[in-house]
Amino acid sequence: MRIGILGAGQLGQMMALAGYPLGNRFVFLDTSGSPSADIGTVVMDQAEQSLDQFLQQVDCVTYEFEHLPLSLVKAVEARKPLYPGSEAIRVCQNRAEEKALFTRLGIPVADYRLVSSAEELAAAAAELGGAQQIPVVAKSLTEGYDGKGQAVLRTPAEAVDAWNKIGHPELIVESFVDFVREVSMIAVRGRDAQVVFYPIAENHHSEGILRYSMAPLPDVSEQLQTVAEGYIHQLLDALDYVGVLTLELFQTRDGRLLANEMAPRVHNSGHWTQNGAVTSQFENHLRAVQGVPLGSTAPRGLTCMINIIGEHGDLSALLEIEGAHLHLYGKEERAGRKLGHVNLVADSYEELLASVERARALLPGAPEAQFSFI
Ligand code: AMP
Repeated sequence: MRIGILGAGQLGQMMALAGYPLGNRFVFLDTSGSPSADIGTVVMDQAEQSLDQFLQQVDCVTYEFEHLPLSLVKAVEARKPLYPGSEAIRVCQNRAEEKALFTRLGIPVADYRLVSSAEELAAAAAELGGAQQIPVVAKSLTEGYDGKGQAVLRTPAEAVDAWNKIGHPELIVESFVDFVREVSMIAVRGRDAQVVFYPIAENHHSEGILRYSMAPLPDVSEQLQTVAEGYIHQLLDALDYVGVLTLELFQTRDGRLLANEMAPRVHNSGHWTQNGAVTSQFENHLRAVQGVPLGSTAPRGLTCMINIIGEHGDLSALLEIEGAHLHLYGKEERAGRKLGHVNLVADSYEELLASVERARALLPGAPEAQFSFI
């Protein structure tokens, strides 16, 4: 099957790498002007003039990036099978739509308000912050990612500065969640509505960018896993979803899970599955999209994924670590840029943490990893 991918970055690259053994071939539609997938055929389409050329070469279409013009996605969907469908993109492009869907399905979220002026932002911060003056997080409704378009307000007096800094006409304001950790739940739904779930991963960010994901975890109870699976299952069914869906959650001190956001695609917090699960998220996404049986999501050992950001560091020394698997995206070094990742696989948490520490020392700028079970 010839699969078209909207977007041509590293997620598309890794999808294609997983799809070649399945007999798939890939055509990418790049609207950014700087494709990096470096595999398969790329149709450059910054002016939205080359859709025909792209669609003629593919049997079905998926995407690796959700911040695409909805009109483009709908034009694709009108002519070729598109998985996941455009409704998933529409919802995920807007934080208010996303939160409304979570709430409608009974999936808990932090208290929030929608505001469209600095005055409304101050009022929402006062109301949500309450007498204890809990901080709030303001986020642009659309176009935000990796912590961009966001500000934390400690008091309502910071509203004007925050409003000006974000510079967006509509914001969502959320109570600041005093979480013990951030986790993600990744699941896959096939065309026949079969659903499989990966074990929950714990994620650590620095400067808004994901640094570490670990899975499976020693301190996730069966009950917590089941709750997260229930939430994502509802989302998958409500959207009649096909492919990989990622749900990012906060775990609170009293053990509850609050949904933060979702991504209608393979996700950085699922890269550990390339070496740490029987079937990777990339392969399972492609199996779902082309309507063949999904593969086992069972873990193969214990895995920590570490992103390589900005500079490569000593990659040869990194590969000396037992159980290290390197995935480079073929990108030039640049501050804050995701250049690749390393998956460290071990048989015990003790070994895994020792490998993480060795790798951290070799990766420029890598922060200390503070997993919540330590
Ligand atoms: P997001 O773009 O919504 O994923 O937010 C980026 C990061 O900001 C998250 O990974 C959290 O670390 C932090 N964050 C976002 N929303 C909240 C919140 N309501 N309370 C506390 N931290 C938050």
